[in-house]
Amino acid sequence: MPPGSRSAGLVARLGASVTIGRKKALPVEITAVAWLPETTPCPELTPDGLCGIHSAKPQRCRTMPFYAGREEADQAPFLLPRPGWQCDISRTAPAVYDGGVVLDRADFDTERQRLEQQADTIRAYATRLVSQSAPLVRDLEVLGKRPGGGRLALAFTGILPRLGGDTAAFARQQVPVLRAMAALTAETPEHRRFHTYYASTLRALEPFVPA
Ligand code: SF4
Repeated sequence: MPPGSRSAGLVARLGASVTIGRKKALPVEITAVAWLPETTPCPELTPDGLCGIHSAKPQRCRTMPFYAGREEADQAPFLLPRPGWQCDISRTAPAVYDGGVVLDRADFDTERQRLEQQADTIRAYATRLVSQSAPLVRDLEVLGKRPGGGRLALAFTGILPRLGGDTAAFARQQVPVLRAMAALTAETPEHRRFHTYYASTLRALEPFVPA
């Protein structure tokens, strides 16, 4: 994220601030992403267009379209419907955001609270990664030169032991999903980078799952 932008301070506090060369520190947002090919819908989306795990869906889905990793006054860009979204943008639709304030804010506040709670762990991990990986620093430097910044996707398996949860339980849940996605992306050349990621993540998680 560009250092001077409105949410830069929050992004650095919730993620990391990486000093590249002798330049100013670069605010780096660190967040979980669903790593799916653009043409592949969420595996939990049912044929009738509803969420198959509505009552247990992730907090990120609950807060959509807002994102608590940005300042509340910076939420307007997230309200622009993207292609394929079925948003009610008629004049009779209920207001959700007014004057830089999220009106129905329970999920926004919950997501912000969770981001605050995990910030120390995320920052420590990011600091270690950056100190050990010159290629990562080079990639960040390239992204930092772009006007709006950019995104870099990394496997999440390295941070698992630091989260203090039940890695085996996590692996039992994730391995079937990863196997399905690896099979789905095995044959299509444009999905190769996704298949490579699913396969490498499976190699990291399968040792935690009994054969
Ligand atoms: S709400 Fe979230 S979990 Fe449910 S279908 Fe949409 S993206 Fe998937």
